[in-house]
Amino acid sequence: MSDLTLILLAAGNSTRFKVPVKKQWLRIGHDPLWLFVTNRIKNSLPDAAVILSAHPDEIPFMTSMCDFTVVAGGNTRQQSLKNALKEVKTPYVMVTDIARACIDPDLITRLLEHKEYADTIVPALDVHDTVIYKNETIAREQVKRIQTPQLSRTEVLRRALETDIEYTDESSAVVASGGTRYFVIGDTRAAKITHSADIGALECLAPPSPFLFTGNGFDVHPFEEGKPMVLGGVEIESPYGFKAHSDGDVAIHALIDALLGAACLGDIGMLFPDTDASYKNIDSKQLLRRCVEKLHSFGFIILHADITIIAQAPKIAPYKDTMRRTLASLLHIPSARVNVKATTTEHLGFIGRKEGVGVIATASVHYFDWKNG
Ligand code: MG
Repeated sequence: MSDLTLILLAAGNSTRFKVPVKKQWLRIGHDPLWLFVTNRIKNSLPDAAVILSAHPDEIPFMTSMCDFTVVAGGNTRQQSLKNALKEVKTPYVMVTDIARACIDPDLITRLLEHKEYADTIVPALDVHDTVIYKNETIAREQVKRIQTPQLSRTEVLRRALETDIEYTDESSAVVASGGTRYFVIGDTRAAKITHSADIGALECLAPPSPFLFTGNGFDVHPFEEGKPMVLGGVEIESPYGFKAHSDGDVAIHALIDALLGAACLGDIGMLFPDTDASYKNIDSKQLLRRCVEKLHSFGFIILHADITIIAQAPKIAPYKDTMRRTLASLLHIPSARVNVKATTTEHLGFIGRKEGVGVIATASVHYFDWKNG
């Protein structure tokens, strides 16, 4: 077992990243960026324990894709780091941001070789441009650009972060608390992905896999008298609606399951538990919007959807085109890529007895192509 734990901070919200995908979920081949970066550094530290800090909603999906410890991040980078440090049991800790995607193995070696030199070992780059601070040109030899990963003595870092002051890197907190810092030469390849344009410039990143993924969904709801009927996002003239915790839009529910299935993101019950009172009588279009946002943020783009409504009553044909356009707009795709079909059960079974409606949906998705836009 190594005397070192590797912490990767992946809980950021990508607020400066102007594409629908959260940057930690951009795909490198099939791997999300957080997994690619973790494995890349782990290759240089085969015995190190690994802790990832993540948004709480993403933890179940991350733990299904790796064997690393994943802890809930906080509201700030520093709080996320403090949460992760609680789990560290080794005397040394190496901390980096998932946004530094192409860290070179030589940089890891440089940090390790100098680990006894100070409380924190920090990669830094010299500045070759003229630097102006508050309208005054200052000596650029005195200026450094600080990078991660940073290698610290765990106890020193824990103590240094017992403060309300927010630091943008660990070494600033360590120095402010009286600890020592040693600089090693940084690496221009360890540049941080901040804006979406940054990622294309990083040579270590392979494009996303061009694979397509398909999912299916199925749902049934019984009729309930006196409720408005909503199906495929459209109000249908009918003496009854659907019995359900939500508005009962059985077509949208099946479609949500198809989308989540295609992206391997679980099912509608996991995303919107019917034990949650906030979903009572909710407009299912809202649920579909949130589902689409989730797919986008996890790195998927929706390609197409096909919906089969199985109903003896009401008549679906007059509403098919409106449903198709409504659903296409909610999916952010052209209506030519959404299909709505209707069939009956020839009077057989509960659908044939006009007790309810069943819907089968299929959807396909692909990874967001960050390389070609
Ligand atoms: Mg349902």
